[in-house]
Amino acid sequence: MPEYQTHAYDVLVIGAGGAGLRAAIEASAAGVSVGVISKSLLGKAHTVMAEGGIAAAMGNVDERDNWRVHFADTMRGGQYLSNWRMAELHAKEAPDCVRELEAWGAVFDRTKDGRILQRNFGGHKYPRLAHVGDRTGLEMIRTLQDHGIHQGMAVHMESTVLTLLMDSGRVAGAFAYDRERGRFLLFPAKAVILATGGIGRAYKITSNSWEYTGDGHALAYDAGAALVDMEFVQFHPTGMIWPPSVRGILVTEGVRGEGGVLRNKEGRRFMFDDIPELYRKQTADNEEEGWRYTQGDKEARRPPELLTRDHIARCIVREIKEGRGSPHGGVFLDISWIKARLPNAAEHIKRKLPSMYHQFKQLADIDITAEPMEVGPTTHYMMGGVRVDGDTQMSTLPGLFAAGECAAGLHGANRLGGNSLSDLLVFGKRAGQYAAGFAKENGAARVDQQQVNQAAALALAPFERGAGGEGPYQVQHQLQETMQDLVGIVRTESEMQRALGEIERLRQRAARVMVTGNREYNNGWHTALDLPNLLVVSEAVTRAALERQESRGAHFREDRPSKDAEAGKVNIVIHKGPDGEMRVTRQPIAEMPAELKLVIEEMK
Ligand SMILES: Cc1cc2nc3c(=O)[nH]c(=O)nc-3n(C[C@H](O)[C@H](O)[C@H](O)COP(=O)(O)OP(=O)(O)OC[C@H]3O[C@@H](n4cnc5c(N)ncnc54)[C@H](O)[C@@H]3O)c2cc1C
Repeated sequence: MPEYQTHAYDVLVIGAGGAGLRAAIEASAAGVSVGVISKSLLGKAHTVMAEGGIAAAMGNVDERDNWRVHFADTMRGGQYLSNWRMAELHAKEAPDCVRELEAWGAVFDRTKDGRILQRNFGGHKYPRLAHVGDRTGLEMIRTLQDHGIHQGMAVHMESTVLTLLMDSGRVAGAFAYDRERGRFLLFPAKAVILATGGIGRAYKITSNSWEYTGDGHALAYDAGAALVDMEFVQFHPTGMIWPPSVRGILVTEGVRGEGGVLRNKEGRRFMFDDIPELYRKQTADNEEEGWRYTQGDKEARRPPELLTRDHIARCIVREIKEGRGSPHGGVFLDISWIKARLPNAAEHIKRKLPSMYHQFKQLADIDITAEPMEVGPTTHYMMGGVRVDGDTQMSTLPGLFAAGECAAGLHGANRLGGNSLSDLLVFGKRAGQYAAGFAKENGAARVDQQQVNQAAALALAPFERGAGGEGPYQVQHQLQETMQDLVGIVRTESEMQRALGEIERLRQRAARVMVTGNREYNNGWHTALDLPNLLVVSEAVTRAALERQESRGAHFREDRPSKDAEAGKVNIVIHKGPDGEMRVTRQPIAEMPAELKLVIEEMK
């Protein structure tokens, strides 16, 4: 029998990013015991890296903004595949969530009359992103962390959940290991909230850190929960591309919100060449108008650099493919040009975009106040995830909840920038509230010792296989190459079929990987344990992308470049069949209530 420590909670939260912490705060406030587990140190989750801001229709900078406009923007951005109930709740509740964060101590940038300042971002009609320079995530996580600790949540850092434990279809807890010593940990729980973030590490070029291997998606799938919208992977248009060691690191959309423009090697602002019909009425048709928009002119329309991410990423790929790219295979993003318009432009840029200034100075020896940056698309965000109820965030399994990036619904086919941080607050809070309610109403579930034994044996298997076998890194590397090359920004049926074959071969290799050494801080072992999760999410992305035989939002098929009206009425749902094989089904999107339809019509 394996040795392990046991920590029992009413509500177990897996993940200590914005969603996990906000959920933990709410559950603690409801009077239940709460444990939070995180793969890295507290305060180091992805949320801390968020730069541009939190989208909330507070109307502080433009009084025309309100929940209705935010709702319509989110639905349009998601190409009408979003869960409309989530989009409605999000738009209505985000402003209060931001104000609550402020009441807990978050210090946002201010307007001249002392209100929370809001900035422009892609796809948002009005300036909507509450921010702290370009370090919003840091302020958010610091505030939630402090508040959460005072609410009494227990934290287990550097611990990775390996599997969810089930009791007759209901979740019963989780089994984990700690990275430092390699010891096993058992967490019996009445309710579990997944808040594990994204899947970026399934791709070679990504803005995501090492933690994002799709664990929550795979844990839910293996336990029997449904995943949805897995074909929609967001490739952010602007990641660093040079030098190679920093490739993929994010360059915030805030640069374009502050007036930064995209140019090809001929100096042309190519984004004016291709403005989608859906956005034509809202987009400036000349440079002068675009500039006025970034400077707060309420009569001006947004520049095409602030169109949605999916579209901009594809325009950049087109410029590169057609030979108009920058020397290192990207395009130019220039904020330094605003010198021609603003006195003290260099100081202004450093004040508004301090992290970007330092990032380029230190990593690429580029002074962004004086010269353009070179940028290209990077795998950034996962719209798809655990299918949840819009109000409660409960998955299709009783007692299993999900919130934040690992849950799906709000963003549909494409997420608008800034809508993730607000998603974490609104739905983290709801997940905490309803998980606490579930824990109170339902007694403890039974932990099945056999499941625990099996999980421990599986985790230790890579040590047992003896020397001479393959290590985990080659398999991980090859999977990332496969997803990047065959299931990336531009997809085709034949390439994705090849990817499926490759994923299957990699799965067989992953089942044979071996690791050496001991269990303390053994990175090879940790990578071996991440592999099954990466394979599940890669297969799910590929199968869903094959099933969606059209192009929509972040999912672009070169062999089916148009939208298909019928496909626009369904979500693609994935679950594990009784034979262990991945099942893909289409599920009709629920009819939107008339009053929400009206909002969309009014905002067109
Ligand atoms: C560079 C960058 C900039 C961004 N800027 C913005 C922005 O300005 N505005 C915006 O709205 N969005 C932004 N985003 C997106 C946003 O930051 C993320 O989508 C969001 O922070 C995800 O939050 P989360 O709480 O869902 O998960 P995360 O913050 O990703 O946290 C996940 C947690 O789960 C833990 N975890 C994962 N697997 C396991 C496991 N198996 N066991 C235990 N713990 C586990 C991790 O350790 C971590 O604690 C940005 C993203 C990046 C990468």
